[in-house]
Amino acid sequence: MDQDFNQLLEKHRLSNTNARKSVFAIFIKNQKPLSMRDLIAACKDIDRVTVYRIVDVFEKIGVLQRIQQGWKYKLELGDTFKKHHHHITCISCGAQEEFDEPEWLDNEVAAISKKHQFSIQQHSFELRGLCRNCRK
Ligand SMILES: [Zn+2]
Ligand SMILES: [Zn+2]
Repeated sequence: MDQDFNQLLEKHRLSNTNARKSVFAIFIKNQKPLSMRDLIAACKDIDRVTVYRIVDVFEKIGVLQRIQQGWKYKLELGDTFKKHHHHITCISCGAQEEFDEPEWLDNEVAAISKKHQFSIQQHSFELRGLCRNCRK
């Protein structure tokens, strides 16, 4: 993990500052998507602006990825650090579960990229609905 992280920073000629290390460590430790607010709360020793800047850089180089949920979003580790997957989110209580990439989706993305002659770098496929508890 740490090695992959160091390599990724190196590749983009970024130094491994303590602040960057801490932000990465928070995601490793939590193993779940965090909102910007969760992250800022967890980064006690780093000022807000720095946290935003780090997230911005991490998103660009793929350390983190954004999970869009309507107009809000959460952040989680990118595919280098976590197996590629998608999320299903409860619109009532916010419960969130992960599911693996369906094969047809993979195939569809490949077909679309071919048709449009795009090299696809990322995609999102997020489902929203009511969870078991909230359906009762
Ligand atoms: Zn729910
Ligand atoms: Zn996918």
